[in-house]
Amino acid sequence: MTSAALPSSSCSKTILHDVFGYSAFRGAQAEIVDHLINAGDALVLMPTGGGKSLCYQVPAIARHRAGQGLAVVVSPLIALMHDQVGALEVVGVHAAFLNSTLTLEQTQKIEREMMSGRLVLLYVAPERLTTARMLSQLDSLHERGLLSLFAIDEAHCVSQWGHDFREDYLALNVLHERYPQVPRIALTATADDLTRADIIERLALSEARVFISSFDRPNIRYAVVEKDEARKQLLRFLQDEHEGDAGIIYCQSRKKVDETAAWLEGEGISALPYHAGLDTKVRRLHQDRFLREEGIVMVATIAFGMGIDKPDVRFVAHLDLPKNIESYYQETGRGGRDGLPADAWMAYGLSDVVNQRRMIDESPAAEDFKRNQRGKLDALLSLAEAHDCRRVRLLAYFGEKSTPCGSQHNACDNCRHPPATWDATEAARKALSCIYRFHENRGQRFGVVHLIDVLRGKNTDKVAQYGHQSLSTFGIGADVSEAQWRVVLRQLIALGYVQTEGEYNTFELTSSARQILRGEVQMLLRKPSEVVKRNKSSPRGKGTMSSKGRPPPLALNNQALVRFNALKVWRAKVAQEYNLPAFIVFHDATLAEMAQLAPDTLTALGNITGVGAKKLESYGQEILRVLNDR
Ligand code: ADP
Ligand code: ZN
Repeated sequence: MTSAALPSSSCSKTILHDVFGYSAFRGAQAEIVDHLINAGDALVLMPTGGGKSLCYQVPAIARHRAGQGLAVVVSPLIALMHDQVGALEVVGVHAAFLNSTLTLEQTQKIEREMMSGRLVLLYVAPERLTTARMLSQLDSLHERGLLSLFAIDEAHCVSQWGHDFREDYLALNVLHERYPQVPRIALTATADDLTRADIIERLALSEARVFISSFDRPNIRYAVVEKDEARKQLLRFLQDEHEGDAGIIYCQSRKKVDETAAWLEGEGISALPYHAGLDTKVRRLHQDRFLREEGIVMVATIAFGMGIDKPDVRFVAHLDLPKNIESYYQETGRGGRDGLPADAWMAYGLSDVVNQRRMIDESPAAEDFKRNQRGKLDALLSLAEAHDCRRVRLLAYFGEKSTPCGSQHNACDNCRHPPATWDATEAARKALSCIYRFHENRGQRFGVVHLIDVLRGKNTDKVAQYGHQSLSTFGIGADVSEAQWRVVLRQLIALGYVQTEGEYNTFELTSSARQILRGEVQMLLRKPSEVVKRNKSSPRGKGTMSSKGRPPPLALNNQALVRFNALKVWRAKVAQEYNLPAFIVFHDATLAEMAQLAPDTLTALGNITGVGAKKLESYGQEILRVLNDR
């Protein structure tokens, strides 16, 4: 083989434009791409939706064009490889995957393509990559100078600290040992220092350049509502703000997932359950429907979501508290990958705090692990309890300084409607002394209901039974509503002044309770808000509704809307033909731009974002015809 000219940065822009139909790199993409083209190793930390794929796809294409052969992409997501490869093939990039879903014949065919040097990108699961067979094939390619790069996607899977740890990832350091000159890029959307250090160490990336992007997702609007009647609140949120939208609802248990999905179906919302207890086939089917159909609501445990690259997820709702801020950020990050507004909505209440604390306490893990988990939970709780900008707090957790998101178009709930606060120090002292009195009284302990009854001076049977009307704290908190008492107690637990014990979640003081009893700390709490029903036509940047109830991403006039819907019908046919999700054929945003500009030449069509040379060649004429027919 004659050695082709080395790829340059001008060629990366050409590839971006011609292959993917995009006019400019985003953020650090350009730098990362050039670094890799020049055979540097890289660790890329970029939020979901930031554009990680192009960071290795563009170099893979550039290096392949320069005669440097195959790029191998390691991904744990077997179920998504088909679509990832499909997305490359429709833009004219020769790609394939090897995994256990293929027949022997299919596998052999792909291996031939791979060994011939024709293949540009190959997706494999880590356990596959490190088989003797695969390594000897890679050896052979390497000897012929046909191994262009390794991309290790979802690299946080190598870290035991993370929630997605995979044993197989540990074996990936073989790549460095065996092929030290082949550039490697590791990518993740997990941002904490511990995980980062783990990735560098375990994948032997100490020489790699680290690219850290801002973790702000400006199009995501964060909101936390106090759990009152969670189902009603959720339904109102869905009906008022997300009719016909695709979204994800996270629940903690499989049972709750099943029940919630069934209940939503009964309410006329297309909802599907997803959790590890379901049959693989059912899970696969539900995931496919979520990706391929419009407006499906996935009700899921955390088993769902990694690698889901559906761009138009319009909301991510949490009916239960996630484990920590990392999980919250990852899960909510699955909304709005297309850059259009999306909601991160969470309902949160006293029982969440109690449950999460108890799960940690009762887990069989080592004490230092538990301590770490508790610290992380505390950080999440203070985000949930915050009365200032949630975005600022979220970013601060990842070590990023920012300014409040203000009352802009897509801000957080606290910035949009600053919550009223009240000085709850006195109330907190009353609650703590009441718990103390119980204890003093023959070491008794009680849960939330009875505690509030005593504080508010209610003459219940239980009060009579224990003679609690004679306690000095009986009725000292009658001026505070029951709802407010719950908030006070939730915060006292969240902040670690009170802990709950046993089957009945009875209260006990911790050693730090003294600080409040002595008046050393002040507690400023948000007032329980009555849920404000938001005006339906609030400024969400939505256009006129389409017939299906789902708005196009741009405000389109009537004629354009007709074109948009016609393009969607056409796209659905193409997607079905290739068995690919519609968004892989074209994003909504691309269709909307076509509908608005109504180009009448191939050249004009080719200038639209998301229309590369191959798609223009494959579909250009058809699209012009669809536009012309309207
Ligand atoms: P990540 O893997 O980081 O979550 P993706 O690689 O899936 O993100 O990219 C998110 C979306 O942004 C995709 O739809 C992708 O096509 C789009 N995108 C990425 N980079 C660019 C760019 N430079 N210009 C326009 N769109 C881009
Ligand atoms: Zn804010």
